[in-house]
Amino acid sequence: MKSASYWLDTAPVIATAESKLSSANVDVVVIGGGFTGLSSALALAQRGATVALCEAGIVGGEASGRNGGQCNNGTAQDYAGLIASYGEDKARAFYQFYNQAVDSVESLVRDEQIDCDFRRAGKIKLAAKPEHFEKLVKTHEALIKEVDTDAKLLDAAQLQREIVSDQFYGGLLTPNGAQLHVGKMVHGLATRCIEKGVAIFQHQPVIRVDKKGPQQWVVHTPEQTIVATSVLVATGGSGPGPFSWFRRRIVPVGSFAITTEPLNKQMCESLFPGNRSYVTSKNIGNYFRLTPDRRLLFGGRARFAVSNSRSDLKSGDILRQSLYDMFPQLANTRIDYCWGGTVDMSADRLPKVGEHNGMFYAMGYSGHGVQMALHMGKVMADLIDGKPTHCPWKTTNWPAVPFHFGKPWFLPLVGMYYKVQDKLH
Ligand SMILES: Cc1cc2nc3c(=O)[nH]c(=O)nc-3n(C[C@H](O)[C@H](O)[C@H](O)COP(=O)(O)OP(=O)(O)OC[C@H]3O[C@@H](n4cnc5c(N)ncnc54)[C@H](O)[C@@H]3O)c2cc1C
Repeated sequence: MKSASYWLDTAPVIATAESKLSSANVDVVVIGGGFTGLSSALALAQRGATVALCEAGIVGGEASGRNGGQCNNGTAQDYAGLIASYGEDKARAFYQFYNQAVDSVESLVRDEQIDCDFRRAGKIKLAAKPEHFEKLVKTHEALIKEVDTDAKLLDAAQLQREIVSDQFYGGLLTPNGAQLHVGKMVHGLATRCIEKGVAIFQHQPVIRVDKKGPQQWVVHTPEQTIVATSVLVATGGSGPGPFSWFRRRIVPVGSFAITTEPLNKQMCESLFPGNRSYVTSKNIGNYFRLTPDRRLLFGGRARFAVSNSRSDLKSGDILRQSLYDMFPQLANTRIDYCWGGTVDMSADRLPKVGEHNGMFYAMGYSGHGVQMALHMGKVMADLIDGKPTHCPWKTTNWPAVPFHFGKPWFLPLVGMYYKVQDKLH
């Protein structure tokens, strides 16, 4: 078994000739080379801006290259719950922005000819308890009335035509969701950035940012000093650097995944006749899908822990057991990959976009960032250009998470709380 992201391991290598700046001055320095940073760098370069992108590790090496590869419409929070918390107008705007984000990824793939196995597979939320199905009934009613007329409720018998497991009591299908090979997407985006003249500096963590004037920044890495008119912080949920203000507002939560060996075609068709993306309804639940080469990618938060090599393997054991429980037919199937990554959670699980001390930022996608971080490219380019944007995540008042100073000491407690919730409800 490889202790590595399946996506990164099966993506083409990015041809990074040593990037050089033609001048020490650029229009924009992008800090972070995940989907937010890469899509923004590309959108800015397409508009004629000179861009340098500094990445602490390798591009796509964190969440963007380690996720479940689901590119779904729909928010991190349940839609009926969103209406209860924010009212119909805001909830509708949030959901519709996710619809737009998936459309935007589809356009990006088409316009830039990125070969990344993008497919409108649809997503099914699977009710792990009878009372969870009752909740899905309410969500379905709200969705078809408001924002997703294609959403379909599936009772337990109908669900068997989509996925064969005796653990679920029905499901909610949202057919507009997509999936993609995120390693290939990273490769495609980075390649287009380089073609457009973006200078990409890998293994260059930003260690200092000096503000010299309203539109003059000096960004320092161990080997580069770059003067810029604007700075975009796209550091996700992880990473070093002088960004403690952001670290106090984003909680880095580990999420883990495994993939099986390739399954034969008959097994795939008999277990997953619908071949969708799937998520289960528990708080400490699972997400899964087939990969283009017919492996089952199976993920989840598993332990509410941070990701590191030991933690990834421990979580991988839990995931393997959950996978075998859900699909006993796969009990003799080998696990080929196991990895973990960091989810950038905001306190309300809604993305955050704005300016802090003159630096632009976009982050906090809370596990729903494949589509949103990719959509942010154009949004952030508009914002940096000073153009009007209709982004519902624009944040003017973003309070710190109480008692959080960067290291999520409280994660085991949160995990315990959710475990109890999952037992009770
Ligand atoms: C295991 C897992 C499963 C997930 N599954 C899904 C899914 O199926 N669907 C979905 O929609 N979302 C999913 N997500 C969330 C999604 O992957 C993220 O929301 C999204 O990739 C965020 O992109 P980003 O560019 O903002 O952050 P990242 O991809 O984390 O990129 C940030 C980059 O900034 C760099 N950086 C940090 N500090 C510095 C510094 N000081 N200097 C230079 N560079 C720095 C980091 O090295 C990193 O490469 C998942 C996440 C994880 C971890």
